[in-house]
Amino acid sequence: LFISFEGIDGSGKSTQARLLRDHLAAGGQDVVLTREPGGSPGAEEIRALVLQGDPDRWSAETEILLFTAARRDHLERTIRPALAAGKVVICDRFADSTRMYQGLSRGDLRPVVDQLHALMIGIEPDLTLLIDMEPAAGLSRALSRRTAEERFEDFGLPMQAAMRRGFLDLAAEFPDRFEVIDGSGAIDAVSRTVTAAVDARLRA
Ligand code: C5P
Repeated sequence: LFISFEGIDGSGKSTQARLLRDHLAAGGQDVVLTREPGGSPGAEEIRALVLQGDPDRWSAETEILLFTAARRDHLERTIRPALAAGKVVICDRFADSTRMYQGLSRGDLRPVVDQLHALMIGIEPDLTLLIDMEPAAGLSRALSRRTAEERFEDFGLPMQAAMRRGFLDLAAEFPDRFEVIDGSGAIDAVSRTVTAAVDARLRA
């Protein structure tokens, strides 16, 4: 089973991904928790190239190629081997983040993202948990834990709002694999909603 978490910055998806890992592991599942960009040594190196330093270093198109290269390495080295061994893979962001961030933020590059995905990646998660959150709430959380290393969190409120809408549109586009989770409650309440959605999939 391949599960991804998506959502705007500060939505709490990384916390929820860890709690889901703990829940499934406690139930006896063999679980691999991984993240994008990154998730394999080579992809983590690409993450550093893209997320650190001058934000204008790469064109939007080059950035899509770098994210896709990172995803390809992550798929080859981490995701595919784990799935082949029967493990549950939980990924903190996957291709939907590229559809949003690189596909929407600097012009309409979604077709480029989708074509490269079809050519080089080819798989989608079985289940995508979209942690939905008010843009202002997400932004204040993201800014409060902002590190000098990460340049992307400079997105202001209008961009956060556009991303939230974009993720909800994506959920409507792929209703079979998306579950929209209200991320505004307490951490353990959100986590219970997440585990209920995943347990229902595991039983199905
Ligand atoms: O999820 P995480 O906080 O690790 O993401 C790091 C940063 O990279 C975020 O600010 C996110 O907006 C950005 N990002 C991006 N394009 C992606 C994935 C993440 O701009 N495809």
